[in-house]
Amino acid sequence: MKVAIIGGGVTGLAAAYHLVNKGYEVALHEAGSQLGGQVRTIKIGGSDVEIFYHHLFRSDVVITDLIAKLGLESDLQWLPSVGAIHSEGKIYPFVGPIDLLRFTKVSLIARVRLGLAAMWLRYYSGWRKYEGVRASTWIKKTVGEAAYSAVWRPLLKSKFGSRFQDVSMTWFWGKVHLRFASRDGIFAKEKLGYLTGSFRRYIDLMSENIHNQGGTLITSSKVKSVLTDNEQVTGFKYTIDGEEYEESCDVILATTPSHIFKEIVPESVNNSKYGELLDSIEYQWASVLFLVLDRPLTDIYWLTMTDDDMPFVAVVEQTNLIDSSVYGGNHIVYFSNYADPDDAMMRLGVDDIFDVYEPYIKRINPDFDRAWVREKHFFTDRAGQPVVDYLYHERLVPHQTPLKGLYLANNTQIYPEDRGQNYSIRMGFRVADLIAINGTE
Ligand SMILES: Cc1cc2nc3c(=O)[nH]c(=O)nc-3n(C[C@H](O)[C@H](O)[C@H](O)COP(=O)(O)OP(=O)(O)OC[C@H]3O[C@@H](n4cnc5c(N)ncnc54)[C@H](O)[C@@H]3O)c2cc1C
Repeated sequence: MKVAIIGGGVTGLAAAYHLVNKGYEVALHEAGSQLGGQVRTIKIGGSDVEIFYHHLFRSDVVITDLIAKLGLESDLQWLPSVGAIHSEGKIYPFVGPIDLLRFTKVSLIARVRLGLAAMWLRYYSGWRKYEGVRASTWIKKTVGEAAYSAVWRPLLKSKFGSRFQDVSMTWFWGKVHLRFASRDGIFAKEKLGYLTGSFRRYIDLMSENIHNQGGTLITSSKVKSVLTDNEQVTGFKYTIDGEEYEESCDVILATTPSHIFKEIVPESVNNSKYGELLDSIEYQWASVLFLVLDRPLTDIYWLTMTDDDMPFVAVVEQTNLIDSSVYGGNHIVYFSNYADPDDAMMRLGVDDIFDVYEPYIKRINPDFDRAWVREKHFFTDRAGQPVVDYLYHERLVPHQTPLKGLYLANNTQIYPEDRGQNYSIRMGFRVADLIAINGTE
């Protein structure tokens, strides 16, 4: 059985790795010039670093196992992370429970309720009870209106834009439950995982293994259409450097975002119930303004922004997790934002984005000067974050499609956890097993 995989991000590579090691013939096509998808990297000061910030939590056991299997176990560092909340020009450290007590933006009772709610979600695992429940409703009821408005409302709003009030409580549970599981104890500091030399290293080793097992990996190859005969996959068309090619295969696994999937499959899929499910799920853009500075901006790794007018949600200072000497003395800061599908900011160039962000960067550090900037980039992803609303569980898209031999695996199908490499790899392995069982059916 010949399996073609569309997309060389973590999901596609994990599926390819699993299938070639089971003895299947695999050809993977990636539209970009580099493998890795959202985990792709650029070089800063001679070292690789992800275009979007990346770290692991202790609960990310599938990727941790894979990294160990690939021989990189000793290079996976677990580092204490410094987190804080920025509100009205003030930075409130948020490392442990004591810091919560110092968060004077809300009353002492509200702080205690915030802490108890987080502790409940950390230990409670009956997430199915939260299906059909809006996170906004649950949080307001549990911690009160003031604490909701000061902490969680801005976060939901910044990630999900106009849809924030409808976000599912299961999503919120996953976010808090798995995040707090990254602490060794309730009073311990959070530890985050990072691979020495960037996550590119395990992606390279996975790719090498696929190649050594006889698999084919083709970059700069854009799949244009899935070919069928009698509702059965027979092959696909793709372009490299503007030249069109055609290849036959028995099974296709697409790992592209749903809107790209819809462009390459036959109309019969889009007109089916399956097509309706695909249409019912929306994505927010993910974006980062990526600055390379000659000095630190703050001494915090993860700074959450809560002011309503802030154009970014979080400031992630990579070089407060990994020493700047790794990047030739450069300091790397990501200004992360999520945006509605029609947000015009997502079409701006890096200089325009920087102009918009600059006064707000000064709110964090009033000394900030544009002369500190050695390099700047603006990276975006249209399918950065699926909108997991409170009825999401009723519309989960199955991996198997109405066309025989056609499968889909992308981040809309990660549930109840929030998107992450760990779950993309788990999904890649699971869909590979499904293909092994059901094949061309
Ligand atoms: C801002 C941001 C921060 C994140 N932070 C973390 C983190 O801290 N920790 C963590 O573990 N995870 C994090 N993630 C999530 C993690 O990166 C994703 O879960 C994972 O990379 C998704 O992999 P994927 O293969 O499903 O999708 P993608 O990476 O999107 O891969 C899909 C691939 O398909 C290709 N493609 C599309 N169309 C075609 C076509 N027609 N033909 C051929 N190829 C095509 C694309 O070029 C792309 O490479 C973050 C993601 C974002 C956006």
